[in-house]
Amino acid sequence: MLLKDKVAVITGGAGLNGLGFASARMLAAQGARVAILDLAGANPAGAAAELGPQHIGVVADVTDKASCEAAAQEVLRRLGRIDILLNNAGITQPRKTLDITAADYDAVLDVSLRGTLYMSQAVVPAMQAQKSGSIVCISSVSAQRGGGILGGPHYSAAKAGVLGLARAMAREYGADNIRVNSLTPGLIATDINKGKIPEDRRAGILEQIPLGRIGDPDDVAGCVVFLASDLSKYLTGVTLDVNGGMLI
Ligand code: NAD
Repeated sequence: MLLKDKVAVITGGAGLNGLGFASARMLAAQGARVAILDLAGANPAGAAAELGPQHIGVVADVTDKASCEAAAQEVLRRLGRIDILLNNAGITQPRKTLDITAADYDAVLDVSLRGTLYMSQAVVPAMQAQKSGSIVCISSVSAQRGGGILGGPHYSAAKAGVLGLARAMAREYGADNIRVNSLTPGLIATDINKGKIPEDRRAGILEQIPLGRIGDPDDVAGCVVFLASDLSKYLTGVTLDVNGGMLI
């Protein structure tokens, strides 16, 4: 068991087909108690119940600072500590640059980028007090390729911002033994893109992936466990490209 006695907080983790829930399941299998945070409509308590009674669901909107702080306090009250934060909540919108409205821009940046800041702010004091912690931020290959397969330029911007924020926090909190690392998943089969890949584009997309397949949520979850655990205890400020070789 890599994560015995650890507590993990996962934002946007309630979708049973998503990267967050797959990560929750794998962290729990390694002994962590998990707090799944998500919007009320996503039913985080129901998702946590799927994992077992030692795990909890907490309603939280990562775009709202007070909601993030209340959620972190609830996790500390109910589970006693916070060792791992997975900043996973994100939304995407298929848009061309000229079609992005101010509201679109705010919505996409608020969830991925503002949410990563607010949740990190909410958990860092507890991690500082215990002199240990691992924060894992979910960015995207869209940040690196300068364009998503399905997301718009504002999604690329938000996810590139996440990489900068993660590196800056890694530098700032190294002295507290808080590590901050990022993952840039390629195309992974989840609800965010379900039914949105046009059949006539599928072969072209697969050609860009040397491993020859679309990713599975567990492909990402395994990297989350690695970055969350002491297996990676001398890694901070790095980005793992979980993309089947898309950038080679
Ligand atoms: P998903 O839609 O299943 O997961 C996103 C989750 O975020 C949902 O549970 C949703 O309810 C939650 N969420 C949305 N707004 C929120 C808010 N304001 N507060 C709290 N939670 C909120 O999709 P997924 O593919 O599992 O996405 C997880 C992360 O991975 C996202 O950040 C996404 O951008 C990123 N990502 C996905 C892929 C992919 O191909 N699936 C690739 C690269 C990156």
